Amino acid sequence: MKIKNVRLKEEGQFVILTAECKIRHVGIDQVYFKFEKKYQDFIVADASPFAAALLIPSMKMGQDLVIEGSISRELQDGMKEIIEKTASWNLGLKPIAILASEVRPDTLSQTDKNASFFSGGVDSFYTYLKHKERSDKIDYLILANGFDISLDNPGLWDQTCETVDDIASSEGIEVIKVESNIRGLIEPVLIWDYTHGGCLAALGLSLRSGLKNVYIPSSLAIGQLLPWGTHPELDARWSTEKISFHHDGADTKRVDKVRFIAQNPLALKHLRVCYINAKDKFNCGVCDKCLRTMTNLCITGKLSEAETFPRNIDLELIKTLSVCNKQKAILHEENLEELKKLGIEKELQAHLRDMLKDFYAPKFDSRKTIKKACYYFMEGLNQIMLIDFFYNQSRLHKMKMFLQKKLQKISEYYSRIFKERNAR
Ligand SMILES: [Zn+2]
Repeated sequence: MKIKNVRLKEEGQFVILTAECKIRHVGIDQVYFKFEKKYQDFIVADASPFAAALLIPSMKMGQDLVIEGSISRELQDGMKEIIEKTASWNLGLKPIAILASEVRPDTLSQTDKNASFFSGGVDSFYTYLKHKERSDKIDYLILANGFDISLDNPGLWDQTCETVDDIASSEGIEVIKVESNIRGLIEPVLIWDYTHGGCLAALGLSLRSGLKNVYIPSSLAIGQLLPWGTHPELDARWSTEKISFHHDGADTKRVDKVRFIAQNPLALKHLRVCYINAKDKFNCGVCDKCLRTMTNLCITGKLSEAETFPRNIDLELIKTLSVCNKQKAILHEENLEELKKLGIEKELQAHLRDMLKDFYAPKFDSRKTIKKACYYFMEGLNQIMLIDFFYNQSRLHKMKMFLQKKLQKISEYYSRIFKERNAR
């Protein structure tokens, strides 16, 4: 992959850090990170953020990362270690070279400000609240549009901004909001699970004149670790001479994080964990992550006080869940263990046990076979979309979206006609 023409431009109330990046086989994409103008002095307009975001996708493609521009020396050294570590993860990531036209050390930091990525979820609330009473308290929350929240869901973004602004103002700190198109461009290469660490680092690297330390809230605890985009062995390696990244919270299991944050009324009022991006919905209350978090809250005895979730766990919904990867299995196991220890929710325990048994020793079941067939069909479709993305500039996808809009208009037209006819 290739990065060139890094520049910083102003657009109304925003400053935009952009670069031309060769990600697909055909064409060049304009990658951007857009910040409010008041953070202009924080921004270092070099290629370091783009290099961090594109490192793992380049490894997946087996292509050297060619950078026409400057990156930090310490970052380059760290990225070489990241290549070594992740190439051994059995994800099909190949060792590559980083070929930057200029490598130079950052000037040393002039600030002592700390920031943390904040989505309003369990991990980010835990990191924020843990640091609150310490000398390394967090001064800024970084909230990204286009990462967990899709750029196509402005309603959810507005709702999340309102919530995080509310949290920040009651805590007397600031929220740095950023928008980026990077996820949509690299996701066809490799899923977000493995690429989001480099993209989070890209945001911190963009802002590194105004920040000394950036905390990356952990997803899994030590002892549960799996290959993942954010990882205790990777995160600090995105650091430069100016800024340090810290993987935070891996010494605490998720159930204990929930136990800690559930003591705080702010977390009970605002907790947001859902990744479904349901239109304008904060927590859908039916997906795996919502139900897992509701189980966490049930263990702590605080589910009925959590304002952003349904008050009870619907066992019929738990029955519909199935575990599709080891990470989710670990978190469900953790919940099951705690429920057993407390001797509560026997029926919920039984469903979780069945679900986990099914993951570790699956039996033939026609319903699940159909589900699996649908999964492989979708995978096939994804492959077609991938080829479309790389070689066809997403024309197929654009055509699909165009037809979808036309069909929607036709259906709206006819339903209006029928309504008018019935009214006559
Ligand atoms: Zn959900």
